[in-house]
Amino acid sequence: VEPKSSIHFASALLPAGWADDVRIVAESGRIALVEAGAAARPEDARGAIGLPGLGNLHSHAFQRAMAGLTGHRGTGDDSFWTWRELMYRFVGRLTPDDVEAIAAMAYVEMVEAGYTRVGEFHYLHHGPDGHPYDNPAEMGARIAAAAEAAGIGLTLLPVFYAQGGFGGVAAGAGQARFLSSADAYARLVEASRRAVSPLADARVGIAPHSLRAVPPEALAAVLPLAGEGPVHIHIAEQVREVLDCLAWSGQRPVEWLLDHAQVDERWCLVHATHMTADETARLARSGAVAGLCPVTEADLGDGLFPAVAYRAGGGAWGVGTDSNVAIDLADELRLLEYGQRLQHHTRNVLADEGRSVGRSLFDAALAGGARALGMPAGLEQGAPADWVTLDQDHPALAGRAGDAILDSFIFAAGREAIAEVWRSGRRLVTDGRHRERDRTVARFRAVLHKLAAE
Ligand SMILES: [Zn+2]
Repeated sequence: VEPKSSIHFASALLPAGWADDVRIVAESGRIALVEAGAAARPEDARGAIGLPGLGNLHSHAFQRAMAGLTGHRGTGDDSFWTWRELMYRFVGRLTPDDVEAIAAMAYVEMVEAGYTRVGEFHYLHHGPDGHPYDNPAEMGARIAAAAEAAGIGLTLLPVFYAQGGFGGVAAGAGQARFLSSADAYARLVEASRRAVSPLADARVGIAPHSLRAVPPEALAAVLPLAGEGPVHIHIAEQVREVLDCLAWSGQRPVEWLLDHAQVDERWCLVHATHMTADETARLARSGAVAGLCPVTEADLGDGLFPAVAYRAGGGAWGVGTDSNVAIDLADELRLLEYGQRLQHHTRNVLADEGRSVGRSLFDAALAGGARALGMPAGLEQGAPADWVTLDQDHPALAGRAGDAILDSFIFAAGREAIAEVWRSGRRLVTDGRHRERDRTVARFRAVLHKLAAE
């Protein structure tokens, strides 16, 4: 956190819209002043185009190291479930040092992509034999250390994983490192709060993994542990999961959750891919955030979220990088929109009428990310001093102004157009490169070579 810093933008996206000659002063990591139509002062850094930093509401950082290792087709159809077997084998070998190095790499890449906060849906808790470490939040502490090294804001979501499948199916050996009783989970959440305490503005929420991994009594028992923090859950990502839930309870996952828990603004339902029209309307009304991860959902063959009906119902949503197979904010927003175009045979599907699609996507993801991660966002007084500077010299931005900047960034330029990223009033990325990139890559590479040699 920088004690005091300031920047002057030729133009910037404020909560009320685009403004010219915007001066922002940050003090102790928060925005202390936003002035439009202001002259630059000598002490100001300079930026062409300013955007608020966005929250990445769903990440499993360690999976970054698996990217590209699951592209070999097995016998029969590959699926989410065969991918999951490979993930379990991979996760079985990771040490705390490995996890810290891999997470630091993922977080450096997130900051470079324009994400200034991450929701880490963290389920790798115990040693390879399933025994907790001396500090039950040892792995959470490594996540916190990685976030600190990369400078990204952290909302840590320790995961509660109680069983292998619906109806009390016993967990398999591949799940041993994730499991807790409800009592052990309460201790883990406490230890997680201690683990993030060195970070300036970390948050801790809770994350019952999914309805398949958490039985109803245990879900009710752990919900009060959230305190003021958010509640995240994976839900209805796969058709088989929906069928298993129906066989177990007679209800679909989203339907079951809405009937059995007080789902409200504090909740983030991750994926929610497979919903009926009724579930979609009810989830939209609940105030919960739908956590959409379009790149991972495409990679895993999950399906398409019913975004048109959900938006029509006023539903909140944000984006996450989930498996981190690729880390790129513009990719997530573009793929979300393109999936809907391919399905509905129309254009600018997720735009409000009379408005730019890029601006509509960006505004929604900013608001949803902030709500899901329990931290305000946006270039306004009191919000974290987190912003992204776009490079006006990028060819895709030539001659662009106002919302056309966002349409060009998301659909034409992508991450390449990001010049700088500031977080907590500190410049972390210059010319598209994080200042910790070289050191982080060296550590990451050493871990990947070690794992490849095992
Ligand atoms: Zn996930």
